[in-house]
Amino acid sequence: MNDDLRDLYQDLILDHGKHPRNFRAPENHTAEASGHNPLCGDKLTLYLTLDTDGLIKDAAFQGSGCAISMASASMMTEMLKGKSVDDARALFAKFHSACTGETEADFSSIDDDDAARLHAIAGVRHYPMRVKCATLAWHTMQAALDREHADKVSTE
Ligand code: ZN
Repeated sequence: MNDDLRDLYQDLILDHGKHPRNFRAPENHTAEASGHNPLCGDKLTLYLTLDTDGLIKDAAFQGSGCAISMASASMMTEMLKGKSVDDARALFAKFHSACTGETEADFSSIDDDDAARLHAIAGVRHYPMRVKCATLAWHTMQAALDREHADKVSTE
């Protein structure tokens, strides 16, 4: 990766970390889950609004934690809107292997905006201590999808 791209991705993380998007609790959400990363102290609650066709109409979150956890949640909620539940799970699978895998991830089958966001967050693979910060929102999303009102999940 060249330096310009690396800077771009760092800017994305900093911007979303400072100014999280979709930071709210929608009244009419249909699924929610809370997640906690005890290693860092990151906590968040994710709210999803699904329509009857299984499309994610709205995604939002509230919580507190380090810049990476907030930025990851912020970018994830942006990505989830308009996606089907199946697409959301597929996105998580790609993101997770990019965060934990040793090879460069293949995001060629997803659109450019999503790929840029995933690349930015997946940069944490160079910092193993931060991987759980980045994946917290995504694990929480899975819990929310698995159960309408999921119990707390933990990265531990
Ligand atoms: Zn963290």
